[in-house]
Amino acid sequence: MLKRAYKKMPPIVFEKKRFDVPKVSVSVEGNKTIFNNFSEIVDYISRDENHILKYIGREMGAAWRREGSRVILVGKFGSHVISQKLEKYIKNYVICSVCDKPDTKLIKQDRILMLKCMACGATNSVPQ
Ligand SMILES: [Zn+2]
Repeated sequence: MLKRAYKKMPPIVFEKKRFDVPKVSVSVEGNKTIFNNFSEIVDYISRDENHILKYIGREMGAAWRREGSRVILVGKFGSHVISQKLEKYIKNYVICSVCDKPDTKLIKQDRILMLKCMACGATNSVPQ
């Protein structure tokens, strides 16, 4: 079980900020899937690209490599599959579980990966 350290904040109503992650663009070539707009999505969610790739590769059980702004995955995958994994990543590593805001940073504390929220101040451990 993961230990969750919530820092409770008074209930302040924050203005809802739009967080529209660009739609995943994928094309299949032979036995490879090309994730065309990987860089654009990485920029948008501002997380470490290797962290995202390791997560997606592991979740999909697929080997991958970078090629410019794109990612090549070995195997045939639809955009909905990649979107799902990405959503899961965002839920785990981007969105604050306390206030649902994406204004967060991934930090390491005593070798534990934590998601620190800039909006409400909450810090929660996340899966490695
Ligand atoms: Zn928060």
